[in-house]
Amino acid sequence: MIIQRVVLNSRPGKNGVPVAENFRLEQSTIADMVQAGQVRVKTLCLSVDPYMRCRMNEDTGSDYLRPWQLSEVADGGGIGVVEESKHHNLAKGDFVTSFTWPWQTEAILDGHLLQKLVPQLVNGRLSYFLGAAGITGLTALLGIREKGHVAAGANQTMVVSGAAGACGSLAGQIGRLEGCSRVVGIAGTDEKCSILVQEMGFDAAINYKKGDVAKQLRELCPGGVDVYFDNVGGDISDTVISQMNQNSHIILCGQISQYNKDVPYPPPLPPNIEKIQKERNITRERFLVLNYMDKQEASVLQLCQWIQEGKLKVRETVVEGLANIGAAFQSMMNGGNIGKQIVSVLK
Ligand code: NAP
Repeated sequence: MIIQRVVLNSRPGKNGVPVAENFRLEQSTIADMVQAGQVRVKTLCLSVDPYMRCRMNEDTGSDYLRPWQLSEVADGGGIGVVEESKHHNLAKGDFVTSFTWPWQTEAILDGHLLQKLVPQLVNGRLSYFLGAAGITGLTALLGIREKGHVAAGANQTMVVSGAAGACGSLAGQIGRLEGCSRVVGIAGTDEKCSILVQEMGFDAAINYKKGDVAKQLRELCPGGVDVYFDNVGGDISDTVISQMNQNSHIILCGQISQYNKDVPYPPPLPPNIEKIQKERNITRERFLVLNYMDKQEASVLQLCQWIQEGKLKVRETVVEGLANIGAAFQSMMNGGNIGKQIVSVLK
């Protein structure tokens, strides 16, 4: 059977900026026969995420991420529908997902590697299982619960960087739901800032590309910062950390501003900021959502409940067509998305 797939065409280099041309669409084939335990699936949507930048390097820099190989099909979070099944627990028409979904229009996959999805849990919005009700939502929720030390009634102020992105837009809302009294976002355009405040219930948002971030932060967080959900690292994080309170907490979610640089993860803080962190006893522990998968089921149900109740507002940026997945990745790495970046794969 003939299919379309996307392979890694070239590597950007550890210090290079990834571009759409690092990926290539090509025609390929899959077997006509499905073997025992396997299913044939049609791909519906794929997730593109910042961690994939590491997979474009020959050495990903972490033991839990495999590098993509040149001229081999790329993979990541994906959702599809079963077209033919020889797996006892899966039937034609079931919706399924996997963290290692190949970037191709159809595939034959091992049934035991797939999770069955219940569309009703997300009001039929299947792609939410890649975002708000998937690994992105889990990252925001578990990051806050495991590293944020948020306590209802404690009058805490939370700051979120990369706030209009997939994790950030959920993290601010979840911070509020978990008990923070004030939530301030930092994002890269006026449109993003306005969505954060008007739609997602942030108290305020700062466009870091305009004006003096430190000054705005002092005005918007007069009592200092108690919890910092850090998606970006670099100068923005140094500015936020300088205004954090004694015994406060950083949720070290990601450091996207450093991903096109050959630096260790997490990147060390500049000496003056590290001094502040130590003197004020600010926690900055590494957080990896994959270490908390025992809490996945209950946490996904919590996220779905908030979505159904309208308490968690979800934004997606959807790009149509497998051929455009490289462009979608390039755009996302440059902040082109609001909420989760999804690629809809129509045959
Ligand atoms: P995302 O949707 O792409 O959002 C990230 C946002 O960061 C972008 O929208 C962009 O918007 C901003 N950004 C990009 N480059 C920047 C720069 N140089 N300086 C400042 N801001 C920049 O990504 P995501 O899926 O939410 O992921 C956010 C972070 O979480 C990433 O660092 C990712 O690696 C991490 N993550 C961690 C885990 C974990 O287990 N720890 C799991 C999932 C994701 P603007 O620049 O316009 O604001």
